Amino acid sequence: MAEDCIFCKIFSGEIPSEKLLEAEDCFVIRDIAPKAPTHLLIIPKQHFTYLSGMTPEFQPLIGSMFDAAREMADSEAVVESGYRLVINQKDDAGQEVPHLHMHMLGGSKLGPMG
Ligand code: 5GP
Ligand code: ZN
Repeated sequence: MAEDCIFCKIFSGEIPSEKLLEAEDCFVIRDIAPKAPTHLLIIPKQHFTYLSGMTPEFQPLIGSMFDAAREMADSEAVVESGYRLVINQKDDAGQEVPHLHMHMLGGSKLGPMG
């Protein structure tokens, strides 16, 4: 747990937020400012600021994040219509929260990336 980290506080319950799914090493919440009808955040329980801090021993966690994405795509009914998975890293990508997380966006036609 990193001090003053929003997502660590959400995981610990210090900041209340409905967990749509909780796996052994990650959990899923809805984004507070959704950019699409489905906008979820898939968040490792352990604090990593960036992907570069995830050494190969964390491959199971990365797999678990994709498992969570597959499961949520099913429950959000976007498997057929489509969705986008995004991980923003640092300034050029506009990363706001310095706790690694994956966005899942879907439920409507998404704009081009860039
Ligand atoms: P980033 O830009 O770091 O990839 O994305 C951070 C995301 O976290 C943003 O889409 C923002 O709306 C969301 N977010 C920031 N604070 C909170 C919060 O307290 N609760 C939830 N559910 N989402 C948050
Ligand atoms: Zn954190």
